[in-house]
Amino acid sequence: MRELPAVDRLLREPVLQELSEIMPRRIIVAAVQKTVESYRLSLQQAAAQGNLPGNIDLSPGRLANEAAQEAQRRARPSLGPVINASGTVLHTNLGRAPLAAEAVEAIRSVSDAYSNLEYDLESGQRGSRQAHLEELLCELSGAEAAVVVNNNAAAVFLVLNTIAAGKEVVVSRGELVEIGGSFRIPEVMSASGARLVEVGTTNKTYLRDYEAALNEQTAALLKVHTSNYHIIGFTAAVEAGELASLGRSVNIPAVEDLGSGVFLDLSRYNLPPEPRVQDAVAAGMDLVTFSGDKLLGGPQAGIIVGRRELVGRIRRNQLARALRVDKFTVAALEATLRLYLDEDKAVQRIPVWRMLTAGEEELHRRALALAGRLEQVCGAAGIGVEVIPGSSRVGGGALPTAELPTFLVALDPSLISPPALVQRLRLGRPPVIVRLQQERLLLDPRTILQEQEEQLIEALARAVRG
Ligand SMILES: *Cc1c(COP(=O)(O)O)cnc(C)c1O
Repeated sequence: MRELPAVDRLLREPVLQELSEIMPRRIIVAAVQKTVESYRLSLQQAAAQGNLPGNIDLSPGRLANEAAQEAQRRARPSLGPVINASGTVLHTNLGRAPLAAEAVEAIRSVSDAYSNLEYDLESGQRGSRQAHLEELLCELSGAEAAVVVNNNAAAVFLVLNTIAAGKEVVVSRGELVEIGGSFRIPEVMSASGARLVEVGTTNKTYLRDYEAALNEQTAALLKVHTSNYHIIGFTAAVEAGELASLGRSVNIPAVEDLGSGVFLDLSRYNLPPEPRVQDAVAAGMDLVTFSGDKLLGGPQAGIIVGRRELVGRIRRNQLARALRVDKFTVAALEATLRLYLDEDKAVQRIPVWRMLTAGEEELHRRALALAGRLEQVCGAAGIGVEVIPGSSRVGGGALPTAELPTFLVALDPSLISPPALVQRLRLGRPPVIVRLQQERLLLDPRTILQEQEEQLIEALARAVRG
């Protein structure tokens, strides 16, 4: 312990002196303290276990080098862009949907200037941030009214809390969804103050099951889109239209949690069917909720559309303020929704849709071009490069069984272990996320943004050099 250099002594080491010119001193001090502390702890531990190594290097130079690495790690921004070569289009861990250029520009335009976020320019009076979105959402969905909150989990929570706190909500046992662990219908329900009434079975639920559950305590009929799983085989579920009619006949609101939020007809693009927002509204659902950053391809948001009276009650809920969206979200969502006014434009301009609708021919061409450029980097390092057919995933809890045909660039390293190369890519700057399958690294051109291709090649060159 006595040989362990003091923090002040280490701070005088040249390597740390140099660093203090390019980063705040407190970062360096914290890194040195952490390094000394971790040495002290491991020495203590080793001593307690009676296996203190004889010749451990406690020189100031060595500790200073370790502290310098730690300081450099601390000085780097933590959140930053990554290159998603995994082929999963909506990756929740990778920030879900990359935004359209229009949405990015909208965020920029309101971030370094004042804006009319809650200012009605016509009247000169206080306005609503929701006003920038409501007209568009009503136009696209056919609903009477709309309100936007922080995310879809918040939307479901707020709907249930507003219309069903202290009362019962009827849900099919086949639709008790869990999304990513922290959103589970039964838990959201109880947090909102509503009581869950399960009806039917896992595979079959009929209209009569909902009917039998109705009583004077029933406040809503809830349909949840099974967005991240399918029940197949011997199954029966109640259509949105039937549930909405039942609700109307007994004067109880029918609510649908759609999950993703699709305005486009997926069959036009050879994708499996997914319920559209406007269809749920047309079917008579009184409230419909969906995410902004799944298949909608916009910013994180939870969108609620439906009947004016119910949306009004939701807006007046005190919790709506706690769950409200900021101006960046409003800006990005408005710009994204505007693109949907022209379906072809939406598909061309919204990255998620560009990726989902990329044709096999285009993907083959891009895979071949990428492979060609990677060969120059990889050949000398003993890494085989090949283009093979494969499939991409939608991800983000949407279209769980869809396998989109694609072409992959497969890298077959011989001098370095495949997991080690995967790790080097992941720890690079920018980080590159790839798939590892049967000892090969697979890169899917579908999710590689065109403007990141150059960076990808450079990142791979660095990773190969080690
Ligand atoms: C994704 C999803 C949610 C949660 O949405 P977030 O926007 O991630 O909060 C809720 N319900 C369903 C059915 C979903 O698919």
